[in-house]
Amino acid sequence: MTSNAHDDANRVILFDTTLRDGEQSPGISLNGAEKLEIAHQLARLGVDVIEAGFPIASPGDFEAVQGIAREVVGPVICGLARANPQDIDREDVVLSVHCHDDLGLAVANSLAGLQAGARQIECAVNGIGERAGNASLEELIMLLHTRRADLGYHTGAVTTEIARTSRLVSRLTGYPVQPNKAVVGRNAFAHESGIHQDGVLKERTTYEIMDARTVGLDANSIVLGKHSGRHALRQALEDLGYKIDGAALNHAFQRFKEIADRKKQVTAMDLEALVTDELREEIPTFAVEWFDVEASTRRPPHATVAIRTPAGQTVEGSFTGDGPVDAIFRAINSATGIDARLRDYRVDAVTGGQDALGEVSVVVELGNPEDAVKADIPGVLAGQRVTGAGQAVATDIIEASATAYVRALSNAVGKAQAAADAAPDPAELARTP
Ligand code: MN
Repeated sequence: MTSNAHDDANRVILFDTTLRDGEQSPGISLNGAEKLEIAHQLARLGVDVIEAGFPIASPGDFEAVQGIAREVVGPVICGLARANPQDIDREDVVLSVHCHDDLGLAVANSLAGLQAGARQIECAVNGIGERAGNASLEELIMLLHTRRADLGYHTGAVTTEIARTSRLVSRLTGYPVQPNKAVVGRNAFAHESGIHQDGVLKERTTYEIMDARTVGLDANSIVLGKHSGRHALRQALEDLGYKIDGAALNHAFQRFKEIADRKKQVTAMDLEALVTDELREEIPTFAVEWFDVEASTRRPPHATVAIRTPAGQTVEGSFTGDGPVDAIFRAINSATGIDARLRDYRVDAVTGGQDALGEVSVVVELGNPEDAVKADIPGVLAGQRVTGAGQAVATDIIEASATAYVRALSNAVGKAQAAADAAPDPAELARTP
């Protein structure tokens, strides 16, 4: 928190709960490296407080909060704890508002809270969180920024980091941003009708109360191609805030070359997607070694896969499906012996254009007692339903789909095992605000 946050009566403290309340959204499961990456980006964005997790919920949560507190410079890092009246200094208390969007009023209610005397707003990137989600961080920042003359409040946020923060959180959580979402939706600054286009070309403020540049939507000026070298890549990554050297740079460069061979221009958004994709490789989990898929209109699609298990073995499976993606998912179930059910599947393009990178999000659910018997997963044996989310980026969407699916599977199995290892008292967790 900046030192003048308390001195200035109209300075609003941004308390971000993306990693705590946001991470409690169904199907979201971020690992330690992903949480750290989001926390670094929140620091770049200039939030004052990061609620990094609920340390008592699990050893993984505890370690994540501790790791973020050690590494992230700038914001105050806190964790959720149960209320203890003696700990609250009633002489010098900043009133905080924590609103959920059940009636679509989270941002409006947060503003009402500020006008009633609160000076801290609790919010999450892209408005993720329990039920309908929390007040949206980017909407609150831009509300106070755009209407500063009328409202008089201000924050310490660097507005040009908003678009990138939104993309990172969407990519790592697997929660898409609706196209018409205020501030960060892909249509938020698009003008379709002729009369609107004409009006904006003559005078931007006709229909736009905000400038796309203010939220960082034009920050796609970095363009690399297949002739770009290691130094150019390192510089481009550094401009994006990623300091990568040594073996990690070599690996990133190799991935970059593969992409650049298939794609004319590699943009900042592609690099972001690649770096974020690389983060996930650090977890010891199931991984796709190779696959074969036959797709035809004359017979059912058939897939064969080889999967490396967390124990380092290679297992193979084959299956027929309704389509090539369905066939490969069933083949992965057959290889791993885990009868996971697909709950959500989505394909997006990272940028526009025919050669765009495909970005796939998958959510799977475990919960059949039989799953546990076949694959020895203790949490599932307890009859608990567990979901896991996974995302992946590749120029080939079948490859991205298979990778995303095994990552989702790994996350779900990891969650089930963690729950079985250190199950906290459910009555205590039920009191999470
Ligand atoms: Mn909440």
